[in-house]
Amino acid sequence: MEFELLAGGACQARAGVLHTTRGSVPTPLFMPVGTVGSVKGVAPAELRRLGARIILGNTYHLMLRPGAELIHELGGLHRFIGWRGPMLTDSGGFQVFSLGHLRSVDDGGVSFRSHIDGSPLRLTPERAVEVQEALGSDILMAFDEPPPADSDRAAAAEATARTHHWAQRCLRAHSGTGSLFPICQGGMHPDLRRDSAAFVADLGADGNAIGGLGLGESKQITWQMLEASIERLPGNRPRYVMGIGAPEDLLNGVARGADMFDCVLPTRLGRNGAVFTHDGKLNLRNASLARRDGPIERGCDCECCAEFSLAYLHHLFHCEELLGYRLASIHNLRFLVRLMEQARAAILRGGFSAFHDEFNSRYRPPDEGVRSEQRKRWRAARARWSRAAGILPASAHPEIVDG
Ligand SMILES: [Zn+2]
Repeated sequence: MEFELLAGGACQARAGVLHTTRGSVPTPLFMPVGTVGSVKGVAPAELRRLGARIILGNTYHLMLRPGAELIHELGGLHRFIGWRGPMLTDSGGFQVFSLGHLRSVDDGGVSFRSHIDGSPLRLTPERAVEVQEALGSDILMAFDEPPPADSDRAAAAEATARTHHWAQRCLRAHSGTGSLFPICQGGMHPDLRRDSAAFVADLGADGNAIGGLGLGESKQITWQMLEASIERLPGNRPRYVMGIGAPEDLLNGVARGADMFDCVLPTRLGRNGAVFTHDGKLNLRNASLARRDGPIERGCDCECCAEFSLAYLHHLFHCEELLGYRLASIHNLRFLVRLMEQARAAILRGGFSAFHDEFNSRYRPPDEGVRSEQRKRWRAARARWSRAAGILPASAHPEIVDG
């Protein structure tokens, strides 16, 4: 894999091209997440039409069901799910560390119980690479330990040291198919972030990832930690910020020199009836939309806005029709993919700051209080579900079940 930088400096918005054996991908870019080998409700042909060029698969979920070896036997993940473009796979680290009391960590790896049937399993750096190679991933991620956002310095330092050791083991285990990205951690401690990025930079990988952000810390801390990480990462390699996906966050990441993003947010919000607009999020269940003709947003070039009115979408959500979830997901994915296309065009013409200012002048993100409230509600709903299923602890991160 090669990264071609076309415009932008080391710690500012930049545009480039990621050349992979399955095609070249313009950056900055947003990657839809296909948790269990499916971007929920959206078919590969639809993903291509909405401009997605690379998608993500989850190692943890795929090794549990249907199993990496079965996918390998059937010709690899691309063939199995009908996606011809490049794919990035995570290492499973984030999910297994989200399992709460169902997992135990030692320097060798993590022993855990499946959240589906409770069976005992183990992931090591070597096994995480083996699974991703069996899937046929184009971009593999090193196995890491993301420290929780509220970790004290000692705990964050310990998890970060383990992450470094595991990254070296992953690189040794990697046979050379696809590119393996190591991950910087460091918790919410700027000096640990800088040291971690410097360590990861020295590994000389094709690209580098920044993990452990967007885990409940304030936005101000997120950007402080991202800046601390990016300043020590090489400018001539792509930088992937994991799990960040709100529109305003993507642009804030791009502004600081990040190139790649992924998040379940557009499809998760879509399933819940929330859609992105340039003024902020809109809830399709709002009674005020019952008679509203016209699309979610005028000027949106997605398949949903081309054909359907807000009144119809409101009706679909009111009746809990599957088409509603799909259309809202398609609109949200197109919104983020297009936002990255527009950011890229702005960078190439030297006008990113103006583009970013214009976006911010209209877009109303939820404030910290609302965000924290939404997170609490989401966690509570998931905890209820988990307890009902009798498998997951109430403390488990919602990502584990939802991707
Ligand atoms: Zn649309």
